[in-house]
Amino acid sequence: MKRVFPNSFEGKLAVFQRLLAGHWRLAIVLFFLMLAVALSESLGLALVMPLVSTIAGTEPASGILGQFAGRLPDLLPLEDNLIAILLLLSGAFLIKGVLAVISRGLTVYFSLRLRRDWALRLYEHYLTARYPVLAAQKTGIVIHNVASEPYRASKAIVLLMDFANQIVMVFVLTIVMLMADWRATLLIGAVAAIIFLMIRRGTYLASVKFGKRRLRLMQEASAQVSDSFAGALQVKLFDLYRSLRERLDRRLSRLAVIETQFFMLAEIPLQSTELVVIAIVSGVILFLRPGMDGDLAGFVPMAGFFIIAGQRLMSNTNRLITKRMKIASFIPSLLLIDDHLKNTPEREALNQGAELGAIDADIVFQDVSFSHANGTKVFDGLTLPLPKGRVTAIVGPSGSGKSTLANLLLGLLLPTSGDIRVGGVPLSDYSLASLRRHIGYVSQESWMFNGTVHDNIACGRPDSTDEEIMEAARRANAHEFIQALPDGYGTEVGERGAQLSGGQKQRLAIARVILRRPGLFIFDEATSALDHESEKLIQESIDSLAGEATVVIIAHRLTTVQNADAIYALDREGKARQTSYAELAS
Ligand code: ADP
Ligand code: MG
Repeated sequence: MKRVFPNSFEGKLAVFQRLLAGHWRLAIVLFFLMLAVALSESLGLALVMPLVSTIAGTEPASGILGQFAGRLPDLLPLEDNLIAILLLLSGAFLIKGVLAVISRGLTVYFSLRLRRDWALRLYEHYLTARYPVLAAQKTGIVIHNVASEPYRASKAIVLLMDFANQIVMVFVLTIVMLMADWRATLLIGAVAAIIFLMIRRGTYLASVKFGKRRLRLMQEASAQVSDSFAGALQVKLFDLYRSLRERLDRRLSRLAVIETQFFMLAEIPLQSTELVVIAIVSGVILFLRPGMDGDLAGFVPMAGFFIIAGQRLMSNTNRLITKRMKIASFIPSLLLIDDHLKNTPEREALNQGAELGAIDADIVFQDVSFSHANGTKVFDGLTLPLPKGRVTAIVGPSGSGKSTLANLLLGLLLPTSGDIRVGGVPLSDYSLASLRRHIGYVSQESWMFNGTVHDNIACGRPDSTDEEIMEAARRANAHEFIQALPDGYGTEVGERGAQLSGGQKQRLAIARVILRRPGLFIFDEATSALDHESEKLIQESIDSLAGEATVVIIAHRLTTVQNADAIYALDREGKARQTSYAELAS
């Protein structure tokens, strides 16, 4: 992660404007609610002094606060001052209690709303990315980023609001104390400020660094788990478990060490300043005593107030430092979310362009060149016709660009130069969503979603009827085997279709695209991994499509291309050359 949190105020504001877009109103309401809780708490505190002097039977202490607090009970129509003060005190804490409950609920709601919003936007960010970007992602890291980072980032926002709130509190508390005795307050305030400023810089940088390390270790651990699960079979067969476990253990142990260090570090300001508090409070008592002229009755309420207020001021300062460290450790999470919200140029413009009504004309590759982002040149002036309603076969050695050709037709990759035309119009004029609606694509290994056979066919066109699904299955030579399954169309296929054979999965995949009634079918080595029996069944259903749609068959087995209307061979120079079955067979 190269980015750091911007130093300038504008930079920071821009980050928060992106992060909190659509959440500002709730954030502000919540902030003031938190503030009200804090203020009603200090109101209760301000009442402590008159309470003590009333119990002690003395006149209210001197100072603005003393005067003000002493007059408070007069506001209530009660004879007994003690009862008046006690009532005020319980009133203040009752209000604080109610506000605190509401504020707690709103805080949880707010952070969950942020999490949901960010998680959805990250999910969208990945799933709508252009294909080359999407294909380059590591599953484990994506899962970690979508599932965990919004949680940490929302925690940072709530902590930050709490932090701002606490600054206000410290400010209010200081004013209250100034009103009671400005000299003592300045003394306490100066010490608190010095402590805060001293620990500030070092703890901040250490915390951000810790946050980055934690994020990276967690992403790595997640990536490793997801990778070894996807390749669980290889792990078993090559006996990789021990070394993988060791690697995970190293990452988790490292995580444990740095987390421990961080939390110990974060505790130090709290503990060390507590010591300072005791020293200061003792100092203040000694400092105030001569001014009281031995008037112990007036001194006790003042000292009581300062012990409580001073302690609060200090613990608030401490909490400010600790919170700042925690927030700093979450900055990498905030920046990660912000990066995803900000950087959208790689997104696929699914709905931009004209709506393609149907593919019912010839498709032509017109002088198409294509290179991968890393510079690998695949096509160099490729020209290739795919006549309407005909079967065109594409052959070529492995790595010659057959799958790339399919990806270009699907709009997953875009030509570097030249274009692919339908009825003379470049594909790039049409929206990707409408283009893909009219293409049925089956690759070598088809993806099965965790669900029933029915669901896995229906995803080809979700609004289709059971009849249509069965008809599609019949045409894909899949109906018979489906009916023989324990629950027929309702049978669960298992994760990635684990309950089905390779040939069965391919036939479901073909039923799925037939259901779509596309104008163009692309079969990319759809039968290459199958036994002859399955291949024959699938070949039959592919042949039956000839005439009603344009068909592209990508293959390396000769039997697969035997019935094609035309055959093109891709060469290593990035061009296509027409050939024939006879030539290939010879
Ligand atoms: P085929 O399907 O004919 O076996 P592909 O179309 O999959 O071949 O690949 C064509 C060439 O592009 C190969 O040389 C392959 O190594 C390269 N290639 C495929 N995907 C990428 C990628 N994401 N980045 C760089 N090169 C790639
Ligand atoms: Mg391929």
